[in-house]
Amino acid sequence: MLVAGNWKMNTDLTAARQLASAVVSAVGATSGVDVAVCPPYVSLDAVFSAVHGSTIRVGAQDMHAEDSGAFTGAISAPMLRSVGCHYVILGHSERREYFGETDASVNAKVHKAIAAKLVPIVCVGERLEDRDAGVQNDVVSAQLKKGLEDVSSAWPSGLVVAYEPVWAIGTGRTASPEQAEAMHGHIRGLLVDQFGEEIGRHIFILYGGSVKPGNAAELFSRNDVDGGLIGGAALSAEDFAAIVRAAEGV
Ligand code: PEP
Repeated sequence: MLVAGNWKMNTDLTAARQLASAVVSAVGATSGVDVAVCPPYVSLDAVFSAVHGSTIRVGAQDMHAEDSGAFTGAISAPMLRSVGCHYVILGHSERREYFGETDASVNAKVHKAIAAKLVPIVCVGERLEDRDAGVQNDVVSAQLKKGLEDVSSAWPSGLVVAYEPVWAIGTGRTASPEQAEAMHGHIRGLLVDQFGEEIGRHIFILYGGSVKPGNAAELFSRNDVDGGLIGGAALSAEDFAAIVRAAEGV
């Protein structure tokens, strides 16, 4: 199980330090659950220091597909490694919607992240109109196939997939446990097809979309739901810790 908090564009440096320290205290020692926090770039270094000595790892919310060069405003995988990042979220629906992220750019980033020994958390998920049209499986299949194209099972670091139905992110609407389980089973099949039984069965598939302390246990208890990518609730150390405990209880 993995529970990762996506702080999005929230917290300045002071608030990020405070939240990271509060998360360390509230989460405490964990058993059987990996925990990560993903603050804004400018706070990665400080948050890495704040969680140092705990089991909590740090991730970034995006990266550029090149290692260095004339890409004003961009941050590369080696830079993320240099400030202690273990994970990087790639292809979040907000990056797709507001910043022109495509499956092809996600794929380029996945390869670079793996080469830099970062663990990519690759986000996929359908829009409401896709689900209403009953094509959610096709949409997610295409995103995953293109996003993970030419990724071989010989990666040096690891890989995480996050299923985040766009209509459930930040809306208070959650996929029902049945909807989540069905899609996670579909994603599992795709991962097994690409990477084989041994590896495909062990890749964490996170659910994301309005996960809260009150619904986490039910979602996490479902087949192939290996934890959560948490947005809004990750900004409260108590709520985030409660979600981690829900994962531990599964
Ligand atoms: C997210 O941003 O990845 C997310 C799941 O957000 P929320 O939990 O707020 O829906």
